[in-house]
Amino acid sequence: MEGKPILNQLSPYKQGKQTKEIQEEFGLSHIVKLASNENPYGYSKMVKERLSKELPEFNIYPDGYTGELRNALTDKLNVKENELIFGSGTEEIIQLICRSYLQPGLNVVVAAPTFPQYKHYALIEGASVKEIPTDTNGYHDMDRMLEAVDENTKIVWLCSPNNPTGSVIPKEDLHTFMSKCPDHVLVVYDEAYYEYMDKELDVHALSYINKFDNLITMRTFSKAYGLAGLRIGYGVANSNIITTLDKVRGPFNTTSIAQKAAITALEDQAFIKHTYVTNKHVKASFETFLDDIGWKYYDSQTNFLLIVTPTSGTEVFQYLLENGFIVRPGELLGIPGTVRITIGTEDDMKQLQKLLFMFHKEKTKVFE
Ligand SMILES: *Cc1c(COP(=O)(O)O)cnc(C)c1O
Repeated sequence: MEGKPILNQLSPYKQGKQTKEIQEEFGLSHIVKLASNENPYGYSKMVKERLSKELPEFNIYPDGYTGELRNALTDKLNVKENELIFGSGTEEIIQLICRSYLQPGLNVVVAAPTFPQYKHYALIEGASVKEIPTDTNGYHDMDRMLEAVDENTKIVWLCSPNNPTGSVIPKEDLHTFMSKCPDHVLVVYDEAYYEYMDKELDVHALSYINKFDNLITMRTFSKAYGLAGLRIGYGVANSNIITTLDKVRGPFNTTSIAQKAAITALEDQAFIKHTYVTNKHVKASFETFLDDIGWKYYDSQTNFLLIVTPTSGTEVFQYLLENGFIVRPGELLGIPGTVRITIGTEDDMKQLQKLLFMFHKEKTKVFE
């Protein structure tokens, strides 16, 4: 059975190996997964407690309007009820945006490297993709992205902090960009790592949704909130954009258990604070270690670092894998010669540093 012609050029998402497989392959007892930017501290205890006491009725369809979570977020974010959309992860919102706005003949502008799903879903809708390289420090090249916009451009994807580089879009740059970007272009601002950012760098993108008719911001419960397995995220935009997306959205696209967990997770801001503070501390000491061995890395406002490796990223990946650490080689992220490592717990990072130190010593010996 032939699919759409474009599908011949695409491959299914290739996920990293599952922990169990690797344990068996290399005979390891303990595996640390630092490949998907998940929260190493788990998720709020309040969520666990609430779910253990009151599970949703699984035989009943979820609230397709996501009413209770919607109310909690309108208060927290100071937005209107009709300015929110929920998805099975922001991943689904990316899909909804592409399905709602793209068709053959149109194009999208993305940074390179950035989150790969923006391009993937654009191609499925028959749109073309203009990829604008980030600058040498991994920051979006906002001027060149703006220059790339033409009359057939429908979406510009901005990812801040950017996955996989970790860089944020400076405040002034977003404002300038929005002021100059033509109205027929939807600008999507993906803030998946929002909670990890230093607050003084916050552009307050949500406050722009009423200034600019063509902006949508996305956030997720998968990263700092630690609920990746439940699949829930949201978008914030004016009601016109939300209504458009709602036509394409499946009626029951987020589960009742995910909605319940997310409401409770929002209440536990102490957990988010703890995650932010601990991540920042462990990241700083990892950076000091990398400085000591002379490995370069990109500025990161997230819970991961993109590190320039002395050999291929794949070689470092393989070495770490055999020693019980799963990371993401840059060769799979469109930025060869790097690895992306999620910041784990302090103990796990100490162990990882020992391994990287041995690898480094082995590699530098050759040139002595
Ligand atoms: C992880 C991630 C997402 C997807 O998150 P989900 O809400 O789990 O679908 C979206 N954008 C970026 C940049 C991410 O890193």
